[in-house]
Amino acid sequence: KAKAEGKGTFRLFEPAMAAQMLLRSRLEADMRRALTAGEFEVHYQPLVDAQTGAVTAAEALVRWRHPEQGLIPPADFIPLAEETGLIAQLGAWVLRTACSDAAAWPSTITLAVNLSPVQFRDDHLPDLVASILDATGFAAHRLELEITEGVMLEDEARTLALLTKLKAIGVSLAMDDFGTGYSSLSYLRRFPFSKIKIDRSFIRMLPEDSESAAIVRAIITMGACLGMATTVEGVETAEQYAFVAAEQCGQVQGYHVSRPLPFADFLTFLNLSAMAA
Ligand code: C2E
Ligand code: MG
Ligand code: MG
Ligand code: MG
Repeated sequence: KAKAEGKGTFRLFEPAMAAQMLLRSRLEADMRRALTAGEFEVHYQPLVDAQTGAVTAAEALVRWRHPEQGLIPPADFIPLAEETGLIAQLGAWVLRTACSDAAAWPSTITLAVNLSPVQFRDDHLPDLVASILDATGFAAHRLELEITEGVMLEDEARTLALLTKLKAIGVSLAMDDFGTGYSSLSYLRRFPFSKIKIDRSFIRMLPEDSESAAIVRAIITMGACLGMATTVEGVETAEQYAFVAAEQCGQVQGYHVSRPLPFADFLTFLNLSAMAA
């Protein structure tokens, strides 16, 4: 394409593009190495009942503990893992690790795991989930799979079939980052979600911003009318917490409660919050 725009353009673009490609292929190789070397970690962010403050769930969030670069956040490697297909391996590893970690938690605490739309391109996804539950002994009803709107955009009929199979295993489905896509509402009606996670972009300007407040209030009410639970993500202040709790949201997740924690620290958090209750 650059060639068609003339020789000058081609010369301008070529070095930058080549450098980019080199960087990406290095990152890809590095990621493959990291998977075998055991450099990925699953951290857990507590979710609390908005009314009682009790920890009712945790979301599994992957990190890469790179020997030279330190802790790398998922935004820096998940997109490439999706493009290269490595997400299949990484996603299965996260699910297995999280289910086996969570098997040690009190049975009142559920586990939420993010699934990439790319993982839905494999028809064996429900079998994979079932076999991981079986191998780890983690109860299906304690597992919640978080899915973004991206998955519905791929192939609606296939996605619906896969989501239905997942439900049949006994896991529940949450719609993540609700409100950021462009057809969230129609998807809620057509797909078997039992929970809505309100995207943190709507929380950021609470409680002062009246438009954000109206939107959050409306989504919580809509969830209740549809018989769906709501979790509010990205609650960073006491004021935001008080606002969403007063609006009767179900769960709160955010730095105000806790940042995502390594497994051992999450267990400590659980013990401390049980003692405080
Ligand atoms: P997400 O599923 O929406 O996860 C919530 C993100 O919001 C996490 O970022 C969490 O650390 C962050 N967060 C939570 N509370 C607050 C807060 O109060 N303030 C702010 N500013 N941020 C908050 P993280 O861990 O960097 O993950 C980013 C995204 O990467 C996730 O968004 C999810 O889409 C993806 N991701 C993470 N782990 C996995 C995984 O195992 N598989 C897949 N497919 N995607 C993953
Ligand atoms: Mg999530
Ligand atoms: Mg989210
Ligand atoms: Mg997100």
